This record gives sequence, C-alpha cells and structure tokens, in this order.
Amino acid sequence: MMRTALLRLSRSEKAREAVTHYKFMQRAARRFVAGETLEEALQVTQELNRNGILATLDHLGENVASEVEARASREEYLCVLDSIEQSKVRSNASLKLTQMGMDLSFEQCYQNVRTIVARAKRYSNFVRIDMESSAYTDRTLQLYGQLRKEGFTNVGVVIQAYLYRSAEDIERLVEMGANVRLCKGAYQEPANLAFPQKEDVDANYMKLVELMLSEKTQQKGAYPALATHDGKLIEWAKRFTREHKINSEKFEFQMLYGIRRDLQQQLVREGYRVRVYVSYGTHWYPYFMRRLAERPANVFFLLKNLVRG
Ligand SMILES: Cc1cc2nc3c(=O)[nH]c(=O)nc-3n(C[C@H](O)[C@H](O)[C@H](O)COP(=O)(O)OP(=O)(O)OC[C@H]3O[C@@H](n4cnc5c(N)ncnc54)[C@H](O)[C@@H]3O)c2cc1C
Repeated sequence: MMRTALLRLSRSEKAREAVTHYKFMQRAARRFVAGETLEEALQVTQELNRNGILATLDHLGENVASEVEARASREEYLCVLDSIEQSKVRSNASLKLTQMGMDLSFEQCYQNVRTIVARAKRYSNFVRIDMESSAYTDRTLQLYGQLRKEGFTNVGVVIQAYLYRSAEDIERLVEMGANVRLCKGAYQEPANLAFPQKEDVDANYMKLVELMLSEKTQQKGAYPALATHDGKLIEWAKRFTREHKINSEKFEFQMLYGIRRDLQQQLVREGYRVRVYVSYGTHWYPYFMRRLAERPANVFFLLKNLVRG
C-alpha cells in the first residue's frame, strides 16, 4: 500500500512543488543523488573508480514538456560524454526517453538520442536507454531497434522482470545481440500487465537471467547487466554462472548510488564487474520517491532527517 501511495506521489506535480523546497527532503535525497552538478557526479565517479567500480551517469529529468527542454537535456548529455572523455573516468551514460521529448514527438526524440549515441560512438563509449513505465515500453524498444538498424552497437536497453511480456522481448533482443540491463521494475503497473507479487517478479527475474546467459545468447553476442540489490538473487546468479562455467566478463552487476555499498565492494573483491548508476541534477523528486517506494524503511530514514532538521 505504501509503495502504491509513494509511486502515485512520485507523479504528482503538486506534491513535488509542495515538498522539494524542504531542506530535510533535499538532505534525504542526497543519499541517492550524487549532487546537483556534473562536477559533483564526476567526483563521485572518480571515487567509485578508485574502488574498482564502474559508473553510468544519469542526468535526472523525465517527461519534459517542451522541445526546448528536450534539446537542453540532449546538450547536457553531450557535455556528460565530453566530460567522461576528458576526465578519463570509467563511465558510460544512462538516459530516459521522456527526458528527450518522447511525450512530444517520436521523431524529435529519436534525433536527440541519435545525436547522443553518435557522440558516444566517437569516444568508443556507450549509452543505455532506461526503461520507464509500460506506456513507453513499445516505443522504447522501437527506438532502440531503429538505432541498431542504423548500425549503432554502442547502445543498450532495459527490461523489467515485473512485466509479463519481458521474456518475449528478451527473445527478440537476444536475436539482435543486444546489451540488456535486467531490473525488477520501478513503476506502478496494473495486474493485467505486471506480476503483482514480489515472489513472481523474482522468479521471472531468474528466468530472464537464464535466457540472457544461455549459450545461444552468448553466440549472438548479447550482454546482460544484472541490476539488483537483492542479495538472494545475486548469490543465485553467482552460483548459476559458476555451475555453467560462464566467465565473469560475460556479464556485470549494477546497483544504484547509495544502495548496498557493502555488497558493491564485496562483488568487486570477488572479481565481478560492478557498475553503479550515478544520478545528479536538480530534478531529483520522482527518482527519490521511487527509491522510497522500493523500501518502506527509507521513509523512516526520511522522518529521521525531518526530526534532525
Ligand atoms: C543500475 C540500476 C538501474 C535501474 N534502471 C531501471 C530502469 O531503467 N527502469 C526501471 O523500471 N527500474 C530500474 N531500476 C530499479 C529497479 O527496477 C528496482 O526498482 C530497484 O532496483 C529495486 O529492486 P531490487 O532489484 O534491488 O530488489 P528489491 O527486492 O526491491 O530489494 C532487494 C534489497 O535491496 C535493497 N534495496 C532495494 N531498493 C532499495 C532502496 N531504494 N533503498 C535501500 N535499499 C534498497 C534492500 O536491502 C532490499 O531488501 C534500476 C536499478 C538499478 C540497480
């Protein structure tokens, strides 16, 4: 119930306006957000790199309402890629299509993302297209497919284990030799589209990992990024890859900045490739609310900040 309420609030403009100016909210959000500026995000990335962790930089923002905003987002990502190249940090970039204008025009959005992917290609870097709510799944996969058809191989996509359709999507992506981040899914979805029970989502997650690590997948050159903080799933994936003699270079683990740092370091010590999703910027509200929704204990953490404030 708390999850549903928080996810509903994450989409409310009124709630955003009402709470984001509170210092205790800003302080609490900082647990999951590297800072407001690209410089701060690069510093965090350098620190992660020093600890053997790779990064993916995310400029916070979604559902822009004008083409001017979409173009500004595109320019920020070009800056992100230039800065990664100049500072030599080990990071790629992750973006959202609604940040690039998907709500306004598919074609404009495509051109914005294409420009970013082309710049990344020039630097031999990589861009991940995050997956948003199910309203965007078809369009996201279509846009990804179009980029691949144009010959871009330095671009990846995300599949969410809570959606019933995901196994079929994976089958198609494997044929394309896609680089796929597998996550459980962070949005509020109806029961006719997504598994309502956590156990079913976890079971589907394992099924999708198996698909992404099958021999056929390896032959097609597909690459999975296992994005989860779930210790049980991570242990299972480690066991599965050991038993099937899958080299640790054939996949990576991914986690969000500020969550399970102990586990991130442990995986690095064990010789696994680990990438952390580093978000920065001023539009932290929906991202932060989704993090609260994932773990009710985070709400108590927020309240603690309120009391301290
Ligand atoms: C790198 C990365 C990229 C992602 N990209 C997308 C995307 O493009 N689209 C999308 O829909 N979702 C995305 N997600 C979010 C994802 O779908 C889940 O909502 C999120 O990862 C929580 O699920 P979990 O797999 O960690 O498992 P859960 O079962 O939710 O959590 C397992 C354990 O992890 C820890 N944990 C999980 N979340 C939190 C939290 N917020 N705060 C503190 N501890 C926590 C807790 O210890 C918890 O018991 C991404 C996640 C990661 C790690």
